[in-house]
Formats: sequence, structure tokens, C-alpha cells
Amino acid sequence: MHTRVDIKRNDTVKIITGRDKGKQGRVLRVFPGTSKVLVEHVMMVKKNVRPNPQRNIKGGIAEQESPISISNVMIVCPSCGPSRIGHKREGKHHERICRRCNATLDK
Ligand SMILES: [Zn+2]
Repeated sequence: MHTRVDIKRNDTVKIITGRDKGKQGRVLRVFPGTSKVLVEHVMMVKKNVRPNPQRNIKGGIAEQESPISISNVMIVCPSCGPSRIGHKREGKHHERICRRCNATLDK
């Protein structure tokens, strides 16, 4: 089943379920194939990093975001807060809008 992905890179989203429920962050990456997004500072996982002196990497434990399902996030409208994405079409022009206040989500 293919779900349309309305979230885009640099959108601000709010996490609505799971470990990081309530957190807000910027979308770093969208994975349309798996309907997942990578959100800044959300779903941090620890990762062992091997030292690599040539690349000036010290090694140890680093924290990194891991992708979460798009169904677990809501778009945050710049004018009214967490909302749903609506669509506006005028001829060829297509814009994502906030379903609550109709503000544009595409700058
Ligand atoms: Zn709004």
C-alpha cells in the first residue's frame, strides 16, 4: 500500500505517540518508501563509534536520531500549533495548508 507523504524536509513536527511523545523537532530526512521520517533530537539511539585518528574521530558512544513512522507525527503549523495538512490547488499551483487556520505550510 502506498501512502502519500505530505511531510517534507525542514517541516516542524510534533511526536504524538511513543517514547518521545510531546517532543517537537525539525524533519531532517523523509523516507517515502517506508513512510518514515528522521526528526532532529527525536528517538536518539546510542551508537558505538570506532576511533579513527586519520579522520579525527575519537571514538566512544555517539547519539544519533533513528527514523520514526510518519503516522506518529503531526505537522506543527507556524501560526496555530500542531495540526493536520490540507491541500490547496489553484491551476497548476499546489500548496500545503493548515487545516485549522488555512495558513500556508510551504514558504
Ligand atoms: Zn494553523
